[in-house]
Amino acid sequence: MSAIGFDLPEDVRVAREGVLGFVRREVLPRQEKHHDLLSDGRRLYGEDGAYVPAAVELIREVRMASAEAGFYAMCAPPAIGGGGLGHLAYYAAWEAIYHLCGGHSVLAPWVISHWAFGPSPVLTQVSERAQDEILEGLVSGAKSMCFGLSEPGAGSDATMIKTRAVKTNSGWRITGRKLWTTNAPTADWCIVFAVTDPDKAARKQGGISGFLVPTSAKGFTVESVVKLFGHVGGHEGAIVLEDLEVEPWQLVGTLDDGFKVALLGVSLGRVYNSARSVGQGRWALEKALDYAKQREAFGHKISDYQGVSFPLAQSATELHAAHLLGLNAATLLDRGERAVKELSMAKAYSVQVALKAIDRAIQVHGGMGLTNEVGLAQAWQDVRIINIADGTNEILARTIAQRLLAGDTEI
Ligand SMILES: Cc1cc2nc3c(=O)[nH]c(=O)nc-3n(C[C@H](O)[C@H](O)[C@H](O)COP(=O)(O)OP(=O)(O)OC[C@H]3O[C@@H](n4cnc5c(N)ncnc54)[C@H](O)[C@@H]3O)c2cc1C
Repeated sequence: MSAIGFDLPEDVRVAREGVLGFVRREVLPRQEKHHDLLSDGRRLYGEDGAYVPAAVELIREVRMASAEAGFYAMCAPPAIGGGGLGHLAYYAAWEAIYHLCGGHSVLAPWVISHWAFGPSPVLTQVSERAQDEILEGLVSGAKSMCFGLSEPGAGSDATMIKTRAVKTNSGWRITGRKLWTTNAPTADWCIVFAVTDPDKAARKQGGISGFLVPTSAKGFTVESVVKLFGHVGGHEGAIVLEDLEVEPWQLVGTLDDGFKVALLGVSLGRVYNSARSVGQGRWALEKALDYAKQREAFGHKISDYQGVSFPLAQSATELHAAHLLGLNAATLLDRGERAVKELSMAKAYSVQVALKAIDRAIQVHGGMGLTNEVGLAQAWQDVRIINIADGTNEILARTIAQRLLAGDTEI
């Protein structure tokens, strides 16, 4: 039974089913086997707040097994060793993964390469020497990277970054700070953005460049791990860059034009987050339906009460609409369109309705909905983050409004 009135292309369906098979074979059993480690913050994080080595190793194992099975880099460009599948495959596969796993799996987010952590179009912009150094490790899943753009004083408006790369005889010397860099505590490489031409940067006409930096380099320090929602650890790092020397081969893309590099990942990131939201929303909805059909109160299954079932009908309606928005935006991107408005709508709407769906599922579960065991609270936190990361909801609304006011009123 399908709720969608058109078929996904054969290669997309094959990729999605293949990925799901992989998750069932390789991810869920690992998650189960290492439940004590992965589901308890006291074991998952070390004193410094970063994942303990055993968890890092499990994540690495999943990436490498997925690469071996042909899924990890399936949507990365063939030029860097990827499978060349498009945005729709990326959307469909991620939506299916999160629909199956919910938002409380530490391992599931590593099944397919995220654009900022592994092989993605961003790597087509690195030099030949950099490709020689990093591609094999990243495409095989053995290594990972992170993306250092945001800073304590620059988030939505990334042109406000203060990290400075000063020209030297051998390249540049970078000094500054980064904040919120996901995967920084465990990554092998980081793409660091810095001001290379202060005058251009002040005029908001470029002047910012990206550099590929080994996280082991002298002058690169993950100062602390950012902890969210009262957790004892986390996966975002605060980075200090102190006289970090980089050479010309480490420049990513064109000098002073670093935002073009960032833009190469933005679409994939928003496709991912649309899918991640819809998948988790559906997972939560189905959990709530199952629970409502078996839980009894006042002589009836609670599903008999409209106070319980109508909110779930609302969730299903909204998630269905979000799913269609996501499929459509990904299809437009695969046709070569920029789909700026449509993708912003898909991401912003999917996050909103998934949050509501998870919250309603918590309510249907009563007190059980709040327990760590059920996983709904973790899913809510995971989706709540995406309301801020990867373009806040307000910034996406601003983008949509800008497009509308510029005459792009087709909906
Ligand atoms: C968990 C997490 C992971 C992240 N991972 C990374 C990463 O890997 N790499 C990286 O570089 N960054 C990362 N970020 C940073 C993320 O991109 C920023 O948090 C985001 O861009 C928002 O910036 P900010 O937090 O500084 O908020 P601000 O930009 O300070 O915004 C504060 C509030 O003002 C609103 N606002 C700002 N401008 C406008 C406007 N014009 N109109 C209306 N409202 C406006 C915002 O919507 C928000 O509500 C991550 C963030 C989080 C939370």
